[in-house]
Amino acid sequence: MSGFKLGSRSRSELTGVHPELVKCVEKAIAVTTQDFSVHDGIRSPAEQREMVARGASKTLNSKHLTQPDGYGHAVDLVPYVNGKLRWEWPLIHPVAAAMAYAAHSLGVRIRWGGDWLWLVDEGEDLPPTAAELEARVNAYVDHRRSLGRSAFIDGPHFEIHP
Ligand SMILES: [Zn+2]
Repeated sequence: MSGFKLGSRSRSELTGVHPELVKCVEKAIAVTTQDFSVHDGIRSPAEQREMVARGASKTLNSKHLTQPDGYGHAVDLVPYVNGKLRWEWPLIHPVAAAMAYAAHSLGVRIRWGGDWLWLVDEGEDLPPTAAELEARVNAYVDHRRSLGRSAFIDGPHFEIHP
């Protein structure tokens, strides 16, 4: 067990998030080697418009908005070190590995913002390691570049794929 726990701010960010995704986050915090905070669960349409306007998100159809089933389908899990949130890839990979492990063991289909083309439980025997996830990000960016496209990667972002 990791010894990390979700703080009260993280818990309140999970309010309104799909229960299967909440289960994954709870399992991930119990096994992760890198502490994290739930930075964003549900967003209002106004918050989402504001994020698109400043380039922090690419879509007005974000899974952070309440979906037709009444739940938000996305969370942002940001590494937490000495009381500070840190958007740094070497810290993000182990958090993503913990989420992949959680999703894999719970049988929940999760999409990760580090590689939008991949679903976590897709036919794999074992969940990926942090190093394998880093390789996925690089492969995704290379793939986009080979198409002449930019790559919007969002390592803290996880969304359920019900
Ligand atoms: Zn997000």
